[in-house]
Amino acid sequence: MVEETVPAGLDTTTAHPARRYNYWLGGKDHFPADRASGDLIESVHPTVRLSALENRAFLQRAVRFLAEEARIGQFLDIGTGLPTADNTHEVAQRRMPHARIVYVDNDPMVSVHARALLTSTPEGRTRYIEADLRDPAAILTDPRLTETLDLGRPVALVLIAVLHFIEDHTEARDVVRELLAALPSGSYLAASNFTLDFTAPAKAAVARDMIARGRSDAHPRTKAQFSEYFAGLGLIGPGVVPVSEWLPEVPAHQRPSPEEIGIYGAVGRKP
Ligand code: SAH
Repeated sequence: MVEETVPAGLDTTTAHPARRYNYWLGGKDHFPADRASGDLIESVHPTVRLSALENRAFLQRAVRFLAEEARIGQFLDIGTGLPTADNTHEVAQRRMPHARIVYVDNDPMVSVHARALLTSTPEGRTRYIEADLRDPAAILTDPRLTETLDLGRPVALVLIAVLHFIEDHTEARDVVRELLAALPSGSYLAASNFTLDFTAPAKAAVARDMIARGRSDAHPRTKAQFSEYFAGLGLIGPGVVPVSEWLPEVPAHQRPSPEEIGIYGAVGRKP
């Protein structure tokens, strides 16, 4: 994005996750602060762009599974990110034209671009809410959500690459629990989260130091912590695995290693 077109009220002096992720994915919606932060993280985790692409591919496989196999027609996608190719509603509505999607993000820049997220099929519907994942009650009672989703029927809760921006694991776990409690039996959770489980100790120490000094804002979770998001749910397919291993479409020898990826993913169904 050229600097002159910065929308009013947007803070471009600090790095924001949506824009940094857009930079890693090869998009155009980022500023110098986002690129500097992205490059710094890349200096510690050289395969971060591949991680971002693999995470995005996981989102698309998970949403496709939810629409095609699980026949879910309602999606609550929190931590939407800037619009890019094959957003949740496009993947879902291709399989299920009447699918309804509510997007939520707390970055004003995502609001600016939300029009691109609202290109629904005529039969379906998409809405966008600017809100914070850490306030589930505000999201669940927002009229834009209640007008769009029927919370009496199964909903797929999509929390992909967003939970790691909640610093405290217990808080993140409780947020997931509160959101799932509002959804009926037959609902799903699709989530992913950064991890250092596969990273060599010396490199992991550098990454933790960056977080401690406020130079990185993504908080790693262990496999046990990530699995807590899915407590009480029935896991689909391979369970909790590096995102590239979740219902993969390419043979093992073509998939990046867990260390290169460093992101856990899973999909679970509420019984
Ligand atoms: N889910 C998308 C985008 C991930 S980027 C994907 O996986 O491809 C992470 C997104 O989460 C960013 O858009 C960022 O703005 C958003 N985010 C971070 N913290 C958030 C919070 N507390 N509440 C809502 N959104 C948040």
